[in-house]
Amino acid sequence: MSEGYGIVYVVATPIGNLQDMSERAISVLETVDAIACEDTRRCRKLLSALSIPAKNLISLHEHNEKRMTARVLELLRKGNDVALVSDAGTPLICDPGFDLVRSLWERKVRVVPIPGASAITAALSVSPLSAHDVRFVGFIPARARARDSRLRQLLIDGSPILFFETARRISATLDALCKLEANRRHIFVARELTKVHETLYFGRVEEVIDEIANKEPVRGEMVCLLGGMVKTSRMDVDSTLQILMGELPPTQAARLTSRITGERRALVYKRALVLSNQG
Ligand code: SAM
Repeated sequence: MSEGYGIVYVVATPIGNLQDMSERAISVLETVDAIACEDTRRCRKLLSALSIPAKNLISLHEHNEKRMTARVLELLRKGNDVALVSDAGTPLICDPGFDLVRSLWERKVRVVPIPGASAITAALSVSPLSAHDVRFVGFIPARARARDSRLRQLLIDGSPILFFETARRISATLDALCKLEANRRHIFVARELTKVHETLYFGRVEEVIDEIANKEPVRGEMVCLLGGMVKTSRMDVDSTLQILMGELPPTQAARLTSRITGERRALVYKRALVLSNQG
């Protein structure tokens, strides 16, 4: 460890409910010499709500992180201890701070986690879908073309996907999932966790779309967990195809089989061709 340097405490703050602030987090914020925060106004409000005396606040956000990291390192070099907080939840989970933390590792400066609230752990702790083998992907792009291409790529391997979403975009994202044939996958949507309007939605994507549409206007912040692809055996696909191909042309039979079994359309078409060639 670097001799004489101060310590950086990475402190989780509440995601809505002030009572989720831990005693340890409060005492760290009380004792550090400075706090690097995403938004100084928000941080000042938090300190005042917790009756923590005013501090030296350093604004550190995605647009100035590199420059401010140098300033924090200078404070640390002089032996000051610094806390890092984000607007809500755990820093670095899609929040600023990574450049700073990486620089601490490079310089062998001590960094200490002060764990607490995070939308991710709060959502997973009440999820009806297993958190096993989940892939966390942060935010899905906002623009339609980039969003669809990202979702298409994420859906390929069939694993469960955990992502952040906003109320303004949730319906468009769910619609896009349906368009990409993930309509029968299950999804868990955790909205406004720890706040007054906390709401949990669960069902197949096509059902949750309706549920959310009926609640318009939906406001607030959300975490979504899209369940893994419902695995269907080749037997299910083949037997459904065979029944439908007795009545319908192969393309139509394949399209319906894909919707019934949840198997990808391209794959079902291939099976339909194999079966029709067999006989
Ligand atoms: N670092 C934060 C954490 O640990 O939860 C997450 C920061 S990320 C920039 C902000 C996103 O987290 C929001 O857009 C929303 O998707 C999710 N989020 C934050 N607070 C939430 C809450 N109370 N309920 C549901 N989702 C929340």
